[in-house]
Amino acid sequence: MMEGQINGHDYDVIVVGSGAGGAMAAYTLTKSGRKVLMLEAGRDYDPKTETPMFKSNFDAPLLGAGNSDKDFGFYDATVDGGWEVPGEPYTKGEGSEFLWWRARMLGGRTNHWGRYSLRFSEHDFKGFSRDGLGADWPFEYWDLAPWYDETEALVGICGTNTGLDDMPDSPEGVLQPPPKPRVPELLVSAAAKKLGIPTAPMHRAVLTRPKDDRQACFYATPCGRGCSIGAAFQTTTSLIPMAQATGLLTVITDAMVKEVNVDEKGKVNALTYIDKKTKQAHRLDAKVIILAASACESARILLNSKSESHPNGLANSSGHVGRNIMDSTGVSYGAHIPALEGRPKYNEDGHTANHLFIPWWGHKVQEKKAMAFPRGYHFEIGSGFRAPSSWVSGDLDGYGKPLKEIAKQAYGSYVGLALRGEMLPNDDCYMEIDEDVKDKWGIPVVKFHWKWSQHELKQVEHGLKTARQILETMGAKFDKPLPKAEDAILKGGQIIHEVGSTRMGDSPTESVTNQWGQTWDCSNLFVMDAGVFASNPHKNCTLTIMTLAMRNSTWLARQLDKGEL
Ligand SMILES: Cc1cc2nc3c(=O)[nH]c(=O)nc-3n(C[C@H](O)[C@H](O)[C@H](O)COP(=O)(O)OP(=O)(O)OC[C@H]3O[C@@H](n4cnc5c(N)ncnc54)[C@H](O)[C@@H]3O)c2cc1C
Ligand code: SF4
Repeated sequence: MMEGQINGHDYDVIVVGSGAGGAMAAYTLTKSGRKVLMLEAGRDYDPKTETPMFKSNFDAPLLGAGNSDKDFGFYDATVDGGWEVPGEPYTKGEGSEFLWWRARMLGGRTNHWGRYSLRFSEHDFKGFSRDGLGADWPFEYWDLAPWYDETEALVGICGTNTGLDDMPDSPEGVLQPPPKPRVPELLVSAAAKKLGIPTAPMHRAVLTRPKDDRQACFYATPCGRGCSIGAAFQTTTSLIPMAQATGLLTVITDAMVKEVNVDEKGKVNALTYIDKKTKQAHRLDAKVIILAASACESARILLNSKSESHPNGLANSSGHVGRNIMDSTGVSYGAHIPALEGRPKYNEDGHTANHLFIPWWGHKVQEKKAMAFPRGYHFEIGSGFRAPSSWVSGDLDGYGKPLKEIAKQAYGSYVGLALRGEMLPNDDCYMEIDEDVKDKWGIPVVKFHWKWSQHELKQVEHGLKTARQILETMGAKFDKPLPKAEDAILKGGQIIHEVGSTRMGDSPTESVTNQWGQTWDCSNLFVMDAGVFASNPHKNCTLTIMTLAMRNSTWLARQLDKGEL
């Protein structure tokens, strides 16, 4: 072996991906004394020097508006990636619409995620037992609860215990205090209360108090640009440097994993990656591999890893790799609220996202099967005075100074309600390898198939009606009928909560991994991203990805101690 060449056998575990799942696995394993090699397809990224937190939209082309290179705005933290990645296409089956967001950079999508961080509840893990739809998880909420506690404390989540059955409480002292609600949020709260609907402080991976070497939020910059002070959680300002500080983590960026290799017994013994700088393929010996490349990328690697012992793709004896894909349902509905017009202007930025939100309130009614759809949703509230950009609220008519006056009067008077709901898996939503198309690295690409079912459409119909009721109660006037659910619902993948493609379960014939993320077919191969989700509760998935990665890599470390792997 040449000097400087990497030998996979020098590492206890190879982790693929540096996002929520991969970084938490690397952090947990290095803290328990294991040597870890992390392979990341994206480029290196330093949030401390590269984050344009303090730039003004006035300095940006088109006042910071998004474009095809920067979908979420000119200064968005995604320095490489988006809905389209040049040279890395994906295809769609006939009649299917699907969008796939990828961030090709150290830290993956955690550099600019919304940071909404809600625990799943007891009922979320046992949906099938409740209504016979989808699948149960192979453990109970109470098995995961201590790991949620640890993850919330480590990550730094602000919020409050509410006692609501859809928001399990955290032990005293775990959550950091939430910021106070904004004025429009208090109006939403009062209107929702009149309709018997609760509101609660949003739980968000944002520090409101300093923690280790990360600072508290100072409520003034858009979190989607990244947070160089570490207040908004991203693995590049927390888990990765913390794991590196142990001296046990090595990171290789620009390393695009192509396939996982197996020995004659079908057990994992290596992986192959393309060095994107030299375009050379490298085979790296491996004792244990964790795939955390994001749900659909990990499934892609598995499906592309065919061998004599795994003819349908690695760990796919069940045929479930690439199936059971779920996203969250999504729809937005908003209105101008006259009562919010012309109020005195002050800084209402806060920590960028909503300080209050509307958790799901219909769970007990659904338990009695007295609702037209089986699973819940929540509303994220969009409101407040924000730094102006290319977009001004409302349909404003006019020109010149009078238009400016109308815009000033209307500034901060628009309230939007964004629904995020649970989707059930169905046979029409899956991914497979498109045998005819390869990416620029020579790796066969993914073909997505997608169709919403009546469960999701009825849920969205209910959500639209409810949103309108709340806004009307706040004084909004509507002159158009509500849109149809099938027209209003966002596309598959658009909420960027893809899960389920390598789901966990109790049975090797119905699932890809056991409850520890260990593939049934290969004891030394693990999946630690949202692919393992057995269902997709309406609560945003990333806190649970991190919690599972912490729990499951702790279990993995114990297996290594016992010599089981
Ligand atoms: C705009 C936006 C808002 C969001 N808001 C929220 C929110 O509020 N709450 C929430 O819970 N979730 C939110 N999400 C989703 C959240 O970002 C993801 O659920 C989470 O980041 C997934 O973690 P992951 O580790 O599975 O994947 P990622 O974070 O995507 O990381 C995967 C990493 O693996 C790398 N990789 C991929 N393929 C390979 C390969 N072949 N070889 C090597 N490396 C590879 C990628 O480059 C990437 O860095 C949001 C996402 C976006 C984009
Ligand atoms: S608002 Fe707070 S958490 Fe968000 S980027 Fe600014 S300082 Fe960081």
